[in-house]
Amino acid sequence: MISAVGVAQDASTADYRSSAASPSKISVPPEAQPSANFDAEAATNAYLAEIPSSAKARSDAYFEGGYWLILWDFLYGAVVLLLMLNLRWSAAMRNLSERVTRFKPMQTMIYWAEYIVFATVLTLPLTIYEGYIREHTYGLATQTFGPWMIDQLKDLGVDIVLGALLAALLFGVVRRLPRTWWIWGAAVTVCFVIFVVLIAPVYLVPIFNKVTRLDDPKITQPILSMARANGIPAKDVFQIDASRQTTRMSANVSGFGKTMRITLNDNLLRRGSPEEIQSVMGHEMGHYVLNHVYKGIMFFGIMVVIGFALLRWALEWSLERWGKRWQIRGIGDTAVLPLVLLLASIFGFVLTPVSNTFIRTQEHEADMFGLNASRQPDGFAQAAIHLGEYRKMSPGPVEEWLFFDHPSGRNRIHDAMLWKQENLQALSTSSAQNDTGK
Ligand SMILES: [Zn+2]
Repeated sequence: MISAVGVAQDASTADYRSSAASPSKISVPPEAQPSANFDAEAATNAYLAEIPSSAKARSDAYFEGGYWLILWDFLYGAVVLLLMLNLRWSAAMRNLSERVTRFKPMQTMIYWAEYIVFATVLTLPLTIYEGYIREHTYGLATQTFGPWMIDQLKDLGVDIVLGALLAALLFGVVRRLPRTWWIWGAAVTVCFVIFVVLIAPVYLVPIFNKVTRLDDPKITQPILSMARANGIPAKDVFQIDASRQTTRMSANVSGFGKTMRITLNDNLLRRGSPEEIQSVMGHEMGHYVLNHVYKGIMFFGIMVVIGFALLRWALEWSLERWGKRWQIRGIGDTAVLPLVLLLASIFGFVLTPVSNTFIRTQEHEADMFGLNASRQPDGFAQAAIHLGEYRKMSPGPVEEWLFFDHPSGRNRIHDAMLWKQENLQALSTSSAQNDTGK
């Protein structure tokens, strides 16, 4: 699947009680109130104790289920791809594309369309369980089946168009440069990803959701002021009607160069307290100022080059063994695609902890930037608790390293409380000023 919504995508908070719930008010536990013997550890534990045990059990179950889904997605996908090769469905789709046209790039595009439609149908049971049934079971989804299915079809449409373009480019490279294709193929893939990230906010996101300029000065003023104070030339904040699909609160930085923008979703606007919204926006600005989109593309580029080098070797090895049986003529033959995707999915599966750790490290950087920019440690603790409604709050260290693409809620609250502990004096001065102003 082509995920196009940007490199620094975050989900910040969620609510399965009611998406129409009134804005939450921060209840700062006594242990987290400013005092001479403020202790970050005790304040963190007090915040964690605010979560009812039934809610904790529920979000733990949801999140731990996600670990298994990584495995099932991988295995199910591998079985589908192996069936396509062994039953020579892939060869048959190639033959069909060759009967339609003699123009090679067009053959590749037709093959891709056949492949992606077929693969989508074969994986539909798992997609429905994962994206619809399970999300409803945990109260995270807002769509009925019809609109959900329409979104799936739109998604398929985007995959057909963008995938056909990429496939035609890559097979063109392989056919023209049979020795060095893996280097040029990696370069084309990285350029293609940059292109998709660039067009996503303007052309892809609006296919699924309505994005508008936020024009409530009560919300935008503190955000834009924070932006100016941190050297961000933003004139607008955008909002997206994510409640169409989900109850999760989130915000993200998307785009590249001129299309780069910060977007808040309507769930966050409706349910987040002002302090919470500011802390989340501080975090997003961290992604922006610390150039996380560019660094993400760089990291992705390195992974792609390594991946293509391994791919070249693995393709030769497997085609020598099974190429005849699968009726694949060589690496320039589109029928090889399921094998390429199988090898890529093995690579991606093995590297899950590495990419999680790369993203989680950036998220931690954005957290620290956000605390300094927004000075809302309690707002941030509140955001972490909301997020804990669908993400395990207190995992073990190995578990966090393997599966978490954001710091755990516990670590985020602890960071916030440590920040608060070290800034108590500055905070008390500024809150005294605020009190006289109100
Ligand atoms: Zn983030």
